[in-house]
Amino acid sequence: MRIIDTPSPNWDERSLPISMIVLHYTGMQDAEGAIARLRDPEAKVSCHYLVAEDGTVLRMVDEAKRAWHAGRSHWREVEDVNSASIGIEIVNPGHDWGYRPFPDEQMDAVIALVAQIKDRHEITRGNVVGHSDIAPARKRDPGELFPWHRLARLRLALPRPTKGLMDPNWTEAGFCLALERFGYDVTDRMAAIMAFQRRFRPELIDGEIDAECRMILLALLLPKPQGDA
Ligand SMILES: [Zn+2]
Repeated sequence: MRIIDTPSPNWDERSLPISMIVLHYTGMQDAEGAIARLRDPEAKVSCHYLVAEDGTVLRMVDEAKRAWHAGRSHWREVEDVNSASIGIEIVNPGHDWGYRPFPDEQMDAVIALVAQIKDRHEITRGNVVGHSDIAPARKRDPGELFPWHRLARLRLALPRPTKGLMDPNWTEAGFCLALERFGYDVTDRMAAIMAFQRRFRPELIDGEIDAECRMILLALLLPKPQGDA
């Protein structure tokens, strides 16, 4: 894979070991604007890698350093997600500027990049997440069009459970407790439910807990024979 160095000054030192990968969309009208912003000292944002729609990969911050992509966020035990993660920006106008499917050439590059990083830092599948998973009340990226199933097929992300599903019949409070156990910040319940749906049941994102949501979440929480949760 060819990686073009395009350094951003927006980084500092990590205070945690690397244990996560966070995927984003750029959410700007074009790639040029997004790259300029990610290199602008005034903007105070950055990422480790940016993947263009044609599959070109830019390296903007060294993996050893802490890039500024997650903002206020939370996943499992981690509060300072920037310190614990590698951030990848994927060029797409996003929900505000004409959200569209991610081209195959772009996804091939994302997959190759995630595979390398996951391997290098021994990151578990359950810690390969979207920005909306770690900041559900603020973010929708990379969004419901992101083909998580392509990553899951290669064991780069958790698959949507499909087999042996059972409805645990949790109450809303029970569901939210389970969602928190899985890793989400559930302070804003509706936002957390929608983030979960966007990731694991993208065809219906309505913020309503239904039997299918309960079944998927239960299956995700049951211990996996291979570990790597
Ligand atoms: Zn983002």
